[in-house]
Amino acid sequence: MRYRGGRSSIGGMLTELVFSEVLNSIHKSNWRIGNDINQCKLCGKCEAVCSRNALNVNPISKTWTLNNRLCNQCLACIVSCPARSLTQIKL
Ligand code: SF4
Ligand code: SF4
Repeated sequence: MRYRGGRSSIGGMLTELVFSEVLNSIHKSNWRIGNDINQCKLCGKCEAVCSRNALNVNPISKTWTLNNRLCNQCLACIVSCPARSLTQIKL
């Protein structure tokens, strides 16, 4: 039996992958996680769930910092925040 999907399916998958990567990079560059520091409890839950190590929470210096270059906009930090102080902001 001949396999007919071969090259065009792989080509289609590659095109789809490149297209989604381009869309994703545009999306990432247009959005950023913002924190209302007045509501933030500096509990560190957002830092703990961030798989990209993009967040640093320091209760001693009372700082919350984001490395936006590492962030992939997965939004796990927003979901985990008990103070609801995180939002996704369009730049
Ligand atoms: S989870 Fe929310 S309250 Fe806790 S440190 Fe992060 S932003 Fe602040
Ligand atoms: S959106 Fe995802 S990658 Fe970005 S800071 Fe939050 S948990 Fe980390």
